[in-house]
This record gives sequence, structure tokens and C-alpha cells, in this order.
Amino acid sequence: MKRILTGDRPTGPLHLGHYVGSLQSRVKLQREYEQYIMIADMQALTDNFENPQKITDNVCEVIKDYISIGIDPSQSTIFIQSQIPEITELTLYYLNLVTLGRLERNPTVKNEMNQKGFGESIPMGFLCYPVNQAADITIFKAECVPVGEDQLPMIEQTNEIVRKFNRIYNTECLKESQALIGKGGRLVGIDGQSKASKSLGNAIFLSDDTKTVKEKIFQMYTDPNHIQISDPGKVEGHVVFAYLDLFHQDTEELNALKEHYRRGGLGDVMLKNMLFKDLEDFLNPVREKRKSLSNDILWDILRDGTTKARKVAIETIEEVRDVVGFTYKSLK
Ligand code: ATP
Ligand code: MG
Repeated sequence: MKRILTGDRPTGPLHLGHYVGSLQSRVKLQREYEQYIMIADMQALTDNFENPQKITDNVCEVIKDYISIGIDPSQSTIFIQSQIPEITELTLYYLNLVTLGRLERNPTVKNEMNQKGFGESIPMGFLCYPVNQAADITIFKAECVPVGEDQLPMIEQTNEIVRKFNRIYNTECLKESQALIGKGGRLVGIDGQSKASKSLGNAIFLSDDTKTVKEKIFQMYTDPNHIQISDPGKVEGHVVFAYLDLFHQDTEELNALKEHYRRGGLGDVMLKNMLFKDLEDFLNPVREKRKSLSNDILWDILRDGTTKARKVAIETIEEVRDVVGFTYKSLK
């Protein structure tokens, strides 16, 4: 089986956007690939270094989200990035192979730096996180990396590093990897913004209770010109319809409702109640599973996953040290 690497920054609980964009496909991929899932605490530290507790507090939450949504620890290896120091070592080897100019040109990082308002004070850790990511991917010799479009520049940069390393040290020990572009698409926020995101406060979390889910659905952005029930309404940009498209099973019924809404005579409250039922049907088993997970179980999963991942990482780093010549056998 081919190996893939995915992961998340543990900066908060996961939401329906994560489900649509990546978790859903990971549940499928774990059957077809040898899947490694990394809790990227080191990477999360690059823009949260003043608040590491936010990261450590969220590690368990993210694992609970994974398991309750259907990621199976017997099929997927889940591990914590910082507990594999070999990744950090490999990052240092790679940093010599990347220029400042190249890092500053990475479009994804450029975007994120603007968003975070670093101005002229860019933490080096943040600027270099794509190099750290290159180490994550290559230390596991992952052949495929499931990502969104926005992550393509990272894979490109990873492969550049791989080629340079192999050329300079005259080896083939590192492997290039391929992006596996997810088909999940993007989930809009409940406020109608193009993306549900935790920092925008417009997401429904996998761990939200029934009351919260209902409140969020009833806040959803609809068609502002649909004032009376009898008014013709617009389906495009209507958040409830966007969610129904993903979570309502009966497509024919949904298409008929869209037609009805366009004609007029269909109220938003009816649609919201329908979505509420669909989301409750989806979230109830997730909640049940979550309740059954003790912290002991979670730490066992993480201990096993991290031990297994570390073995692979050690094999690769030993090859790398050997290729560079940093083995110093006489010291042993
Ligand atoms: P933050 O607000 O802190 O940026 P977030 O809620 O946007 O957090 P991220 O941790 O940035 O979540 O998301 C990680 C990955 O999850 C993204 O690269 C993407 O693959 C997926 N993802 C997040 N939000 C969505 C969404 N609304 N729709 C589809 N995929 C999403
Ligand atoms: Mg984000």
C-alpha cells in the first residue's frame, strides 16, 4: 500500500468545514493507503508561540474529533509531531537548501503573513514552516499528500528540496511526493463568508451540542430579499441550501425544494428545521462515539501511533545522516 501523510494544527476543535474538506476523505483513504495523520503541534507553535497551552489543550480534542468521525487507529497511524525529534533534525538539513528569497515567494505563506499582520517582524519559525512540512512529508517517504489547492505550493517546495538534496549528496534516498487534491470542496460559513473557519467564528463544530447547532442554523445567512414567504427566493449564496447540498440525502427532494424556493411560497424556517434534522442525524452518532472515548484510550492511541511513526522517522534520518556523512561511527 502507498503511504500518505495528512494532519492538522491542534489550534482548536474541528468543524464541519474540516469534515467536508478533509476528514471525510481520510475515512475513505485509510482503507486504500497506509495513512499517517500528524498532529502538527510544532507547526502550530510558529504562530502561537506565546500561548503553547492553547495547542496542548487542543491535542485531545482533535483526536476525539478524528476517532468520533470514523478515523480508525488500527488503519491510520496518529502521532504528535513534536514527539518525533528526527523531523526537527531533518528540517535543519533542509534549511541549508532553501533561500530566504524562495521562502518569501511562497504564495500561501505570503497570504498568511498578510492575514496575521506580522508586518516587518516575521518570526523565522513561521517563514520556515514549509521547510518543516517538507521534513514531515519526506521523513515518512509519503508518496501522496492529500491537500487543498492552497497547499500546492508546499508540495512544490518539498519536491524542490528533495531534488536538491538528492543532487547535492548524490543519492536517491529521498522521494518526491504527489498532491492528492481533495474533491470535498469548501464549506461556507454560517454567516455566508466563503469559508467556515474557527477564527471567523462562523463554523459548526463536530463537538457542538444540539442547542448550539440549532442556534447556529437559525443564524444562517439566507436570501435577504426573501422577506415574505410568498416572495421568490434566491438559492445561490443561501447558506442553508449550501449545507443541505452536503448533508441532505434525498437529492430529488432537495431539487424540488430549490424550485419551490425560487418560485416563492417556501419559508426559511422550514428549510432550517430540515437541516437541523439532517445535521442531528449526522452528529448524533459522532457524539455517542465521542462520549465513549476516555482520555486513557486517547493517550494509548497516541502512544502507539507515535512509537510506530518514530520508527519510520529514525530509519529515514539514519539514511540522511549517512548520506551527509554525519555518522561518526568511531564515536559509537
Ligand atoms: P483558522 O481559522 O485558525 O485558520 P480553520 O478553521 O480555517 O482555522 P484550518 O486549521 O486553517 O482551519 O484548516 C485546516 C484545513 O482544513 C484546511 O487546509 C482545509 O483543508 C480544511 N478546511 C478548513 N476549513 C474548511 C472549510 N470551511 N471547507 C473545507 N475545508 C476546510
Ligand atoms: Mg485556516
